[in-house]
Amino acid sequence: MIPLCVPEIKGNEWKYIKECLDTNWVSSVGSYVDKFERDFAKFVGANSAVVNVNGTSALHLALKVLGIEEGDEVIVPSMTFIAPVNAVKYVGAEPVFVDICRDTFVMDAEKIEELITQKTKAILPVHIYGNIVDMDKVMEIANKYNLYVIEDATESLGSIYKGKHTGTIGHIGCFSFNGNKLITTGAGGMLVTNDKELSERAKFLSTQAKVTLENKGFYHSDIGFNFRMPNILAAMGCAQLENIEEYIEVKRKNAFIYNELLKDIKNITLPVEKPQTKNVFWLYSILIEDGFPVSRDELIKIMYEAGIETRPFFTPVHTMPSYLNCRCGDLSVTQEVSSKGINLPSSVSLKQENIEKVCEVIKILGKKL
Ligand SMILES: *Cc1c(COP(=O)(O)O)cnc(C)c1O
Repeated sequence: MIPLCVPEIKGNEWKYIKECLDTNWVSSVGSYVDKFERDFAKFVGANSAVVNVNGTSALHLALKVLGIEEGDEVIVPSMTFIAPVNAVKYVGAEPVFVDICRDTFVMDAEKIEELITQKTKAILPVHIYGNIVDMDKVMEIANKYNLYVIEDATESLGSIYKGKHTGTIGHIGCFSFNGNKLITTGAGGMLVTNDKELSERAKFLSTQAKVTLENKGFYHSDIGFNFRMPNILAAMGCAQLENIEEYIEVKRKNAFIYNELLKDIKNITLPVEKPQTKNVFWLYSILIEDGFPVSRDELIKIMYEAGIETRPFFTPVHTMPSYLNCRCGDLSVTQEVSSKGINLPSSVSLKQENIEKVCEVIKILGKKL
């Protein structure tokens, strides 16, 4: 089976984790925790980073430190992994769904303004599959209406927008190190920001809002969380980060091979890279248009039988039982793209012959009629 997206573990992971085990520094205090935060912040070009147990908790924490709460609204896309929308609910706020762009599959910044009300407190762009939201437009609207911007950059680590890493353009950016992400710690997340006050508050809330008194007792001035990442996982993160540039290059190279092999097939739409951006193509994603001889779901089945793992695009969150009654704009592009999109195998370890095999299946089906 050619998998959709599996981790790449080939560097100092064993060595650094063994060091944690050998020295007993296994839990959430340790030098790798600090190093991972420092190295990650440096890599993305943010002033500071706060490591978390997963990307979902980083998003939850981001909303919390910005004071988003009950009665507030947050503008989010509906075609996304559900985590950022759930995070809005965790703090008691309401998601408001905005439509997406047909070419990049991400939040359509041109459609945000019409959804803003007195209750709107934040915009939460999600850079899915490596594609990048039009952040200039998002920031322009945020400045005009005095809103916070929390970027979900979990799927776009390595993507660049006008010289800046995604996740470093808004007030806070969140990343994930789940097993299928660009780099992994098994489970993990990171919150980045350029605002010192926000990062200190995030660190404080993620460690049970704990103050150690003079007599070594604990004092808690707030309701905090236990969102700390253990040193063992941070050790893995440090090792993964050492190879990130190579992973990014391989992802992009593989995407360009896909583009070349698929470019003459009719009735499919290939991913794009907008001017002044660099797309990491975390999951190489195409649309199966109406004229293609088989449907998207038939293609997934045929691929599976040919030993190729693929995945349909996210089912829109506004169709899930918990989110049926949320306020939203016209979501017709969301509906359409969600029903036509498919992610193709995108592991860093993917070989050229695997890409050729995947493209051959699509090419043969495309000629049927
Ligand atoms: C992976 C992911 C997350 C966070 O996932 P965790 O498993 O909690 O690390 C959040 N948003 C998106 C869009 C994701 O793909």
